[in-house]
Amino acid sequence: MAKIKVATVSLAGCFGCHMSFLDIDERLIALLEVAEFDRSPLTDIEHCGPCDVGLIEGGVCNAENVHVLREFRKNCKTLVAVGACAINGGLPAMRNQFALEECLLEAYRDGIGVENPHIPNDPELPLLLDKVHPIHEIVKVDYFLPGCPPSADVFWTFLSALLAGREPSLPYELVHYD
Ligand code: SF4
Repeated sequence: MAKIKVATVSLAGCFGCHMSFLDIDERLIALLEVAEFDRSPLTDIEHCGPCDVGLIEGGVCNAENVHVLREFRKNCKTLVAVGACAINGGLPAMRNQFALEECLLEAYRDGIGVENPHIPNDPELPLLLDKVHPIHEIVKVDYFLPGCPPSADVFWTFLSALLAGREPSLPYELVHYD
């Protein structure tokens, strides 16, 4: 039987959701018997090909995030917002209460310890968006896994259901937002 294809990515995330996913520990071996990874920080694949499931960590804070998120949406049959950042912007969205310019000046000109003040402007760098956005403001999302991060059991419960062709649902004790 063909393996189910899973892609994962961290946009404006901290990789904590990926670490929590890896906390499924030895269950990863069982997972790899039925699933294979496409683009992911865990592989060397640069672009997301056609996949069954896309797991998105992090909100959207810059132009590259938008591009990558759209690539995932185009290629993944089921797209999942993983963690607080993807669901509502998370802690990084605290910058939304300030103007972007204020944030840049604080980080690169006025902050304590800044040397050689200069806002980076190399064209290779992705432009920051004015605000941090949850991913559902950019693309359609099929499922949301809450938590910062969601626990390993959340990942396992969700993926097991999906792989078995069941509609995923989380028991009450696994639903948390912190
Ligand atoms: S939800 Fe929490 S753990 Fe996940 S990327 Fe955001 S800050 Fe990190």
